Amino acid sequence: STLIEFKDVVKEYKSGDHILRAMDNVNFTIDEGEFVVILGPSGAGKSTLLNLLGGLDSATSGQIVVNGEHVENFNDNELTKYRAKNVGFIFQFYNLIPNLTAIENVELMKDIVDVNIDGKAVLNSVGLAGHANQFPAQLSGGEQQRVSIARAVAKQPAMLLCDEPTGALDSNTGVLILNLLQDMSNNRNTTVIIVTHNAILAEAADKVIRIKNGQIEDIAINEHPKKVD
Ligand code: ADP
Ligand code: ADP
Repeated sequence: STLIEFKDVVKEYKSGDHILRAMDNVNFTIDEGEFVVILGPSGAGKSTLLNLLGGLDSATSGQIVVNGEHVENFNDNELTKYRAKNVGFIFQFYNLIPNLTAIENVELMKDIVDVNIDGKAVLNSVGLAGHANQFPAQLSGGEQQRVSIARAVAKQPAMLLCDEPTGALDSNTGVLILNLLQDMSNNRNTTVIIVTHNAILAEAADKVIRIKNGQIEDIAINEHPKKVD
């Protein structure tokens, strides 16, 4: 079933007396459990799209419907609740807290959302059993990214939003991370949305949304997405 719908979404930024239209009448839907890659060159509007979907910024006009709720009508307080409940963010540079251990980074979410988190079990599920008490600096880049994925999925959000999740990693580790995200989509019915400029990631996706100059260029369904392993 449909989890996300963008209807005629416009996003304009004001800088001085100049208005820049970063999102220009964008329409698409994303199904529950779908593995979606949003592809586009630098400046296309990928970050803008993630920020709108993640409730970090508000659209200028149009509708953003998630689980039947109209996100575009939410005030700041409602957006904060929406983010906590629905959205797990995964960033290119992990955004882990350096003076907290892996398990403390994962369990941090307990205080933010009212949900019980078994940090150890979540770390095990991303292949990090035995690393629970290490600090980020003691982990490799791939391991740090897995901690950040564990943190994002721990609260079981409706969607995982990933900004270039393999961007800072060498290709071997990038494949492992992509494999983990694909597994989460296939086996746990997590909706995974990746924005990237890397066309190779598109082969693994159920759906590829290409954007350019703030507009949808193409939406393609992969009947047989490439299994990453
Ligand atoms: P990337 O292309 O790696 O996703 P960003 O999304 O951070 O990088 O930035 C994309 C473009 O948007 C850049 O040209 C950047 O200068 C511009 N940009 C990002 N944030 C702002 C801002 N707050 N004000 C003005 N321009 C911005
Ligand atoms: P991408 O992530 O694909 O690189 P962005 O969504 O960051 O693209 O940017 C899309 C356009 O919006 C760019 O022209 C960028 O400069 C502009 N932009 C992004 N964020 C801001 C901002 N906060 N203020 C002004 N312009 C912005």
